[in-house]
Amino acid sequence: MYSQSQILSGSLKTVARHPAHPTINPENKHRFASKVLALTGILQTTLETNELMALFARELSHFIDFDGFGYRFEELGIGIDLGEQADHSCQYQLIVTGDKLGELELYRRLRFDEGELELVENLLAALLYPLRNALLYQRAVQTSLLDPLTGVKNRSSLDSSLHREIELSRRQGTTLSLILIDIDHFKLVNDRYGHLYGDQALRAVAQCIEETIRESDMLFRYGGEEFLLLLSSTGTDGAGLLAERIRKQVEGLSPHPEKKMHLTISLGVTSLHPEEDGDALFGRVDNALYQAKQAGRNQVVLEP
Ligand code: GH3
Ligand code: MG
Ligand code: MG
Repeated sequence: MYSQSQILSGSLKTVARHPAHPTINPENKHRFASKVLALTGILQTTLETNELMALFARELSHFIDFDGFGYRFEELGIGIDLGEQADHSCQYQLIVTGDKLGELELYRRLRFDEGELELVENLLAALLYPLRNALLYQRAVQTSLLDPLTGVKNRSSLDSSLHREIELSRRQGTTLSLILIDIDHFKLVNDRYGHLYGDQALRAVAQCIEETIRESDMLFRYGGEEFLLLLSSTGTDGAGLLAERIRKQVEGLSPHPEKKMHLTISLGVTSLHPEEDGDALFGRVDNALYQAKQAGRNQVVLEP
């Protein structure tokens, strides 16, 4: 594949480094400038990255022919592909005042010429600031849904995820299970080793759970030393097996070997019943956890 690589910064100086493009001659320069201005206006109408890129690709196609369009921003896990990849491509590292905004790529069966590349660069300049705003917004939204101590999803994201998963499970006729996890005698851990070590133990437990579950399973920090797992397409038996595996893994943890700190957890497990809402489902998993505590802790209780 032939690849033409460009670095684009937000400064106009960098953007204007190519010789003048034949389609932007002095006569239609004014018209082109007003089109870029209109493009900027259009791109400012959304803070949603997918929508922004779809808008940009659509507007770009009014100026230049291309077969495919790709955009990636690894840090936020964004990967957008529109159209089809082809033999030739031009790639741009999008950078504005030192902030990396990801990579954009255009594909075409025919090679892009210098003039076309300049045209694309001029149009990309209109994308940079709206894109930076969209990424800032997306990062803020993601951060607000994560627990700062453990890095797992927080309770605010649980509410919407639980609702969504219940809806999905109903619509697709699939099972949905919950595992509620509570660290045993965690107050004693804090009292004995101090809060800093307690915090590290919480991080270690969260990490241990993350390493034991599948990528499609969702882990939330529900409260202080409580975690909730949402398992789509999983029945009570499968969830019970996973809960037991997590219990064993945590039992084998030694977050601070020099302090000989050992942790155990109690787990409640249940699955969604037809017609029940999120509150009823949560009430039953909470009850299963309560039974695990009552029965002596460090165990799993399944609520059918
Ligand atoms: P049980 O086995 O019945 O669950 O006993 P427990 O001591 O774990 O339960 P309890 O609810 O009495 O205490 C929970 C403790 O978790 C109290 C609090 O000190 C601790 N905790 C909650 N959030 C945090 C946190 O963010 N950091 C630390 N270090 N401790 C926390
Ligand atoms: Mg608790
Ligand atoms: Mg506890």
